[in-house]
Amino acid sequence: MKILAINAGSSSLKFQLLEMPQKTVITSGLIERIGFDDSIYTIKVNGDKIKEVKSIPNHSVAVQMLLDSLINLKIVENYEEIRGVGHRVVHGGEKFVDSVLITDEVINEIEALKDFAPLHNPANATGIRAFSEILPNVKQVAVFDTAFHQTMPEEAYLYPAPYKWYKAYGVRRYGFHGTSHKYVSQRAIELLNKEVTKIITVHIGNGGSISAIKNGKSIDTSMGFTPLAGIMMGTRSGDIDPSILPYVMEKEGISIEKAITALNNESGLKGISNKSSDMRDIVNGVNEFDGNCVRAFNLFVKRVCDFIGSYFILLGGCDAIVFTAGIGENSEPARKAIVERLGSSLGIILDNEANKVMGEEKIISTPESKVKVFVIPTDEELVIAIDTLRLIK
Ligand code: ADP
Repeated sequence: MKILAINAGSSSLKFQLLEMPQKTVITSGLIERIGFDDSIYTIKVNGDKIKEVKSIPNHSVAVQMLLDSLINLKIVENYEEIRGVGHRVVHGGEKFVDSVLITDEVINEIEALKDFAPLHNPANATGIRAFSEILPNVKQVAVFDTAFHQTMPEEAYLYPAPYKWYKAYGVRRYGFHGTSHKYVSQRAIELLNKEVTKIITVHIGNGGSISAIKNGKSIDTSMGFTPLAGIMMGTRSGDIDPSILPYVMEKEGISIEKAITALNNESGLKGISNKSSDMRDIVNGVNEFDGNCVRAFNLFVKRVCDFIGSYFILLGGCDAIVFTAGIGENSEPARKAIVERLGSSLGIILDNEANKVMGEEKIISTPESKVKVFVIPTDEELVIAIDTLRLIK
């Protein structure tokens, strides 16, 4: 049966149509600049990319255009062929510990969580409503970025701030990239082929987070109340001392919004290198002995290793470290630097030849290595489709 996986943003809508349970991608595409006069609609069919620029005033029009094009391009004969629509939803708060079938009440809950994800949750809800309008009889499922981490124990999710902040306002660690950590850890469990497992998943893309996963359950993760926390990222700082904020605000005469924006958009690899947020550019800079890029690269590697090291202790050892997302799947030098920095303490030995892999599943440690190291490409759309299939049955 055909299932649509949807990732709706405030002005965009990414989609993938999958044949399930075979897990084959039939088509995928992206609608950008929704609400502008020059919206861009792109769809991939049989290896060809079709692009159209026209005004798409809102998400309902975007959804209608997507469904029309599936018929016009003869990808489906009628709407009834689409048996389920799965939506990525960024924040599920403490309410959603798993994916759920969407009802009016669920949509209201997603909107009510907007304080936690002001840019994302309202956009996700808008996407869901657009599909409900046009395909009222098709079951829809919400898949939350936070849900996989709801198994974290209190000692991992609580901040040592006034307890009232948690009880009254929900201030706690939620964690993100849950669908990715879930997918790659489950795949690693299959590859390890054992009952009791301790895995550290290293999702490093433009955003990044690391998780400690015991017997398939997340017990800690590096992102926190928001995706700003944890490791250093492309443009995000990751963890810093919060007292830096009032200090810099006074020095620069800037507002809290400006200061937070600087930590979200002007920090990380970009902030330190003063060049780029993209690891490819940083690595090129390192090869040209650009001091700023060397500094950014080394800082990134240290911060990733600090989390892996602490999760190694938390788990009491580890069977496998899994690299995924843009940097994790593709960057030989980043993986090498991380594994070599950890190697002597954790007994990990990298297979340098295998580490040349890009975007493919592969074991990149040697047989003698005490910890296996895998590259496992993440597939968030597939997790959405799998959960949708499970819940609509
Ligand atoms: P997002 O967090 O936006 O989903 P991705 O997981 O797609 O990001 O990762 C994008 C990042 O991956 C890029 O910014 C870049 O730093 C990194 N990246 C992609 N390809 C490579 C590569 N070949 N070598 C090094 N880094 C890469």
